[in-house]
Amino acid sequence: MYEPYPVPELAREHKRIRYSSLWDFAKQDLRLLAFFLIIASFIGFGIGYFWICIVIAFVAFFATQMRSLYLVNEWISNRPYDVPPNIGGIWGALLFNVYRAQRQERIVQAEMVELIDRAQSSLVALQEAVVLIDENQQIEWWNPAAERLLGISSDDRGRNILTLLRQPNFIEYYHHIDESPDGLKMRSSLFEDHYVQVKMTRFGGESRVLVAYDVTRMHNLEQMRKDFVDNISHELRTPLTVLSGYIETFTDQEDINPRWKRAFDQMQSQTRRMNALVNDLLLLSRLENDKNIAKNQIIEMPSLMNQLFDDAQAYNMDYGHTLNLDIDSHCDLIGSDMELASAFSNLITNAIKYTPKGGTITIGWHDDGESAYFVVQDNGIGIDPKHLPRLTERFYRIDSDRSRRTGGTGLGLAIVKHVLMQHQAHLEIESKENQGSTFKVVFPKERLSFPD
Ligand code: ADP
Repeated sequence: MYEPYPVPELAREHKRIRYSSLWDFAKQDLRLLAFFLIIASFIGFGIGYFWICIVIAFVAFFATQMRSLYLVNEWISNRPYDVPPNIGGIWGALLFNVYRAQRQERIVQAEMVELIDRAQSSLVALQEAVVLIDENQQIEWWNPAAERLLGISSDDRGRNILTLLRQPNFIEYYHHIDESPDGLKMRSSLFEDHYVQVKMTRFGGESRVLVAYDVTRMHNLEQMRKDFVDNISHELRTPLTVLSGYIETFTDQEDINPRWKRAFDQMQSQTRRMNALVNDLLLLSRLENDKNIAKNQIIEMPSLMNQLFDDAQAYNMDYGHTLNLDIDSHCDLIGSDMELASAFSNLITNAIKYTPKGGTITIGWHDDGESAYFVVQDNGIGIDPKHLPRLTERFYRIDSDRSRRTGGTGLGLAIVKHVLMQHQAHLEIESKENQGSTFKVVFPKERLSFPD
């Protein structure tokens, strides 16, 4: 649980201090007044001017009070941090209380300053860059790591951060930080081939704290992984084509020995699986590399839906499900037709594969004026909710044997996720084990085209 930073001991102590009671000190003044009055009465009676002496006693008492008031004022105005003058009575008590409160306040202040100093020195020692940006986008404070990683220099205090980090993706991120909760990976403006991960958080209204760290090593490793998968997939493609060609020729021979026939059939199904795997890997790597290529063809959805439905019926031959097509939207999509068709068809083949024979599968296209929905609903084996968050990871399979038996590569939903990301769409999955699943792709308004 979040624990607030402990309030310094003395600050708490401060609240418990009991101040001197003013009444005790007021009694001193009253005693002095009484003393003056008694003396004045005696003298007044003695010399026969009683009331005049009483008035003089009041004036004398008033004068002592005025002197104290003068000393208090002089102390507060000129040397409030010095020990206060020694005054008796109510003014003395007041002075002492003010002095004590002030001293406590100074101690608390000193503790706070030390705390701020410690916080600041820990930020200075960090390897990660930290930059404070005020509500006017101006740089307020930064640590030395920010100079190394982001190139901020001492002249940049008060400079607009967007004139310093000018990459379009950073500007986009700055204006929409809520849309990228993981922050942004961007090229370093200082060193070529260096990458930094930047994350910003709002505080105190529109001020922001920016944290950045070097991810060049991670970026390079990731790139190596991509290149490796890409190369190996390309290298496997040619031998696989040759193998499957020969295997097909042998399987097609009519006079083939039945003992060999079974072996060739198996070889054929395994080479098909490997081919599917290589194709999916290549498609994934292309999707990763094509991130920034504009995807803005107009895709006529009714015709794509019919084509997908025909393909689904062909694939459904071995399964015998009842397939339904449910289109109640006239809107078209803006995107890449090949990629979207491949994502949609992955969802449809999954529904067919993971539904026991004789099930019902409905493929739908709907819109509500704001968003459009491509929906595939089945009444198949369903998915335990604990698997849902990881389902779109590469090679994540709930039941590897079943997936292998059905010819799955474990890459289908990863491909779907990438294609959708490139179209600013997202996938919603609802599923109950042994009851069925609904995979819904939600497209935002900017990806829709409504025919006039
Ligand atoms: P695979 O090639 O194994 O089908 P996917 O990435 O397409 O790989 O799917 C990942 C896993 O999600 C599958 O192995 C399967 O367990 C589960 N899955 C996908 N679609 C469905 C569905 N319609 N019904 C039940 N499980 C599904």
